[in-house]
Amino acid sequence: MAMFDAIVIGAGMSGLYQLHKLRQLGLKVRVYEAGGDVGGTWYWNRYPGARFDSESWSYGYSFDDEVLKEWEWSEHFAAQPETLAYLNYVADKLKLRRDIRFDSRVTACAYDEAANEWEVTLEDGDTARCRFLITAVGPLSTPVWPTIPGIQDFKGESYHTATWPHHPVSFAGKRVAVIGTGATGVQTIQEVAKTAGTLTVFQRRPNWCAPLVNAKITAEEQAKIKASYPEIFARCRASHGCFIHDADPRRALEVSPQEREAFYEQRYAEPGFGIWMGNFRDIFVSREANDTISEFVARKIRERVKDPKIADKLIPKDHGFGTRRVPLETNYYEVYNQPNVTLVDIRETPIERITPAGIATSDTQRDFDMIIYATGFDAVLGGFNKMEITGLGGRTLKDKWAEGPRTYLGLQVEGFPNLFTLVGPHNAATFCNIPRCIEQNVEWVSDVLAHMQKQGLNRIAATRAAEDAWTEHVYETGQKLLFTQVDSWFMGINTNLPGRNKRTFLLYAAGAPAYRERCDEVAARGYEGFTFD
Ligand code: NAP
Repeated sequence: MAMFDAIVIGAGMSGLYQLHKLRQLGLKVRVYEAGGDVGGTWYWNRYPGARFDSESWSYGYSFDDEVLKEWEWSEHFAAQPETLAYLNYVADKLKLRRDIRFDSRVTACAYDEAANEWEVTLEDGDTARCRFLITAVGPLSTPVWPTIPGIQDFKGESYHTATWPHHPVSFAGKRVAVIGTGATGVQTIQEVAKTAGTLTVFQRRPNWCAPLVNAKITAEEQAKIKASYPEIFARCRASHGCFIHDADPRRALEVSPQEREAFYEQRYAEPGFGIWMGNFRDIFVSREANDTISEFVARKIRERVKDPKIADKLIPKDHGFGTRRVPLETNYYEVYNQPNVTLVDIRETPIERITPAGIATSDTQRDFDMIIYATGFDAVLGGFNKMEITGLGGRTLKDKWAEGPRTYLGLQVEGFPNLFTLVGPHNAATFCNIPRCIEQNVEWVSDVLAHMQKQGLNRIAATRAAEDAWTEHVYETGQKLLFTQVDSWFMGINTNLPGRNKRTFLLYAAGAPAYRERCDEVAARGYEGFTFD
């Protein structure tokens, strides 16, 4: 059986960088990747309109000056093909592919206590062993199809956005249905509406969307971006979610209504997440403050959608602005002014079944040529749930996390020695301009391994006390936020999965700087909360 110092599961953004760092430590590494090539999220999510919601130049890796110098983003918010090309370029430049086995899905990982080794089993039955096991499985990597009866009966084309085919898909002249209006659905809808014969959107709950304001990067801007990478990354580092936008120090209710209105107008007109991440600092914690921005965005929706009844259906009533992930859009609301687009509110007329010809709701049957499912993921936990991960004493991770995840720093789990969970639950990377936090995660893990190499240690395990304290801290900081009072993937809610109707906070909400500080402190204290052998 092949033996490695480390096995990394996943060749997306985190897995690629982790491979690079482990090689620098001189370790023998193998990466197993379920997909046919590198890219993770950007390999799978090829749906129409898929693109960044973070500024491209704030999203790429920051660790390699040559990469920063050579790579040129063409747009402020790059589309998926460009991001995938970027990750291919990085993989080639750092010669990463030779240690990656593609089309290799890991199904089980078991810790052998006597040997202090992990045994990894692949779908094809192949096995390999390693000392350190690092999951780089991504927080949004397990697509979920809705539990609507009859899905298999549909005779037309069916696609889930997260497993979109590699061949071109034409919508021209077709009768297309889209189910789901999260960040993915919104991007898909605005693109499909351009060419579809008819587009029917099946919306269960609307989200608060805000303008992306994308543009091509001019030659002058390109030069400026390249010259200011250190400042860009420093700015990201200092902000709560590692975006270039950070909360305004003022409270929404301490400024005059005129000032507030002018501020919201300015944020609404600006590119990117400024309206979410760069808003007044109390909109996430005070309902009254949140009402002011929610009312503002509701007004914008009413201005943009001609039919007041449709506008009303597009305005969320069950949660305030920013308490679920804000989809960024380009003419999304204007789509509903097109004569070929219909919005079906499935809370009024629920979908009863998918039929061979289309979709039957409680009031009627509609026929389609294509149904697109933009119904999301088994968020954060899905990548782990897909594998049988067995730790000390034969205990599985699924069993350990049955009542919700428990981790230390979102990076290790008590009872699972030598296992590191990049971008795992209760890790700041789950609510972050993700590559920024991925770099922190990967560098921290690499530093622990370097420390162990130096000290001649070969086993690291989180203590129960450290895990308990971290878990309590995560839930406690989450409680203060309005978004823990709302059903969303942040809270582990998924109506398509059994037993996932109880809110369990999956993220870390005290912010990336606080998280980084804590991780650094733990390291500086000789990896407090861990035991080594
Ligand atoms: P999502 O936010 O979970 O949205 C899923 C949508 O499908 C929701 O509208 C949901 O309705 C609907 N849905 C689910 N099951 C349904 C059913 N059985 N019947 C009818 N409707 C159903 O998933 P997502 O849009 O794929 O986005 C997930 C995350 O991926 C985002 O929050 C974001 O973090 C990330 N993402 C990022 C980008 C980017 O950076 N550019 C783009 C896309 C996605 P309910 O709301 O009622 O549950």
